[in-house]
Amino acid sequence: MSRVSTYDLIVVGAGPAGAHLALRMARAGFSVALLDRKRFPRPKACGEFLSPECAPLLAELGLYEPVVAAGAWPVAGMDLHGYGRHARGGFVPVGPYAAPLEHGLAVRREVLDAIAVRAAAARTEVHLAEGHTVTGVLRDADGAVTGVTVMDSEGEPGELRARYTVGADGTRSAIARALDLWRPVPWLRRFALVTRYAEIELGPRAEVHFFPRGYFAATPVDSGLFSVNLVVDEDHLRASPLPAAEYFAAQLRHVPAFAEKLARGRRGEAVRGIGPMACTTTTPVFAGGALVGDACGYVDPVTGEGLFFAMRGAELLAGELATALHAGRTGPRALEGYRRARRREFGPRLTMARLLQRGLRSGLVTKTFLGLLQRRPRLADLLVSVTGDYAPPRALLAPKVWWPALTSCAGSVAGA
Ligand SMILES: Cc1cc2nc3c(=O)[nH]c(=O)nc-3n(C[C@H](O)[C@H](O)[C@H](O)COP(=O)(O)OP(=O)(O)OC[C@H]3O[C@@H](n4cnc5c(N)ncnc54)[C@H](O)[C@@H]3O)c2cc1C
Repeated sequence: MSRVSTYDLIVVGAGPAGAHLALRMARAGFSVALLDRKRFPRPKACGEFLSPECAPLLAELGLYEPVVAAGAWPVAGMDLHGYGRHARGGFVPVGPYAAPLEHGLAVRREVLDAIAVRAAAARTEVHLAEGHTVTGVLRDADGAVTGVTVMDSEGEPGELRARYTVGADGTRSAIARALDLWRPVPWLRRFALVTRYAEIELGPRAEVHFFPRGYFAATPVDSGLFSVNLVVDEDHLRASPLPAAEYFAAQLRHVPAFAEKLARGRRGEAVRGIGPMACTTTTPVFAGGALVGDACGYVDPVTGEGLFFAMRGAELLAGELATALHAGRTGPRALEGYRRARRREFGPRLTMARLLQRGLRSGLVTKTFLGLLQRRPRLADLLVSVTGDYAPPRALLAPKVWWPALTSCAGSVAGA
């Protein structure tokens, strides 16, 4: 790619945010360069759980059937364990809110992401360049972004220009950094260790096991595998002399029942680390483009909403970009509607996730919270429905929704 090429849109990063955006823009007739430094299928550290609200976003792009055909596991809800408590919530209707499906899906990221990338690449409007790392942005005299500089896998540099440039390049976004929009989140320095197990008895729900300083999250995925993440405070991980796999195994002593379950299977893959994860950006829009997905900032895996934000963010941005491109608008405020839509739609969810992150750092709060959810199963359903992205966080504040949940009879959780 040493020549200079010009497109309507450059999308940097072909994860779910970038591939969905490229596909949507191609369907609207725009030319798109979709760049990724990796080649697909590529691994991505993730809990691999898709909330129920992702289903219509996949279906609209013709991706739902291939994902199901690839063996995506239906996930009916979540089991939350910790400090001797066990609560269970399902993706069931709560108040006036019902999920498009009464389950989420879980599928290996190398499978999920490759399906979307191949669908995008099949469009004549999309030029997919795998193995291309974006190294910086090109700007005009007014500072507006007009394209990117890239390096291919042979180390050959090149430039691409476009009417708009989008950073969909994940939490350490090269685009956000080049534009000085990227900021770390110092109070939330966390690392994740991820792996998968085989030969585990797979159930219908995902599970989270809280313990002081972190949690294990796990879900069955396709191909009979059980995807397991450990999320821990960075200080604790760094202070340990143990290699990743041994550190992972050592933390299992905090969650004996879960450790027993894993011991009945076999770890089929290396333990891979990712972090520090927490970061944010000052704005998702800039003159000449925007950010989408994790490039806008890290989403804590505890609520399992990052993939929904990536796919729905791509939908919101595609609408604004198409309007701006049709109208020939490229000024600094051309994508302002996208910024507002994100704030309106994702703002309350991010606030709730932040509150949960802060609260769950305290053992006492976690124990009290899980105890409440254990005694009030409908409250657990309500919480799970909000994290399932079909009930809005304001449902937690609406007395007509939470009062029946709070006063639902105390029940024990089967199999707890
Ligand atoms: C441990 C963990 C568990 C998680 N669990 C869940 C879960 O269960 N459910 C859920 O919904 N979310 C989960 N998430 C969040 C989810 O993984 C992300 O929100 C999601 O991957 C965001 O998609 P994306 O397309 O924005 O970014 P990514 O999937 O990160 O894709 C970014 C792409 O950009 C490419 N790229 C990066 N830099 C460059 C560059 N300079 N040039 C070219 N290409 C570049 C990368 O190769 C990559 O392919 C989890 C995250 C973590 C860390």
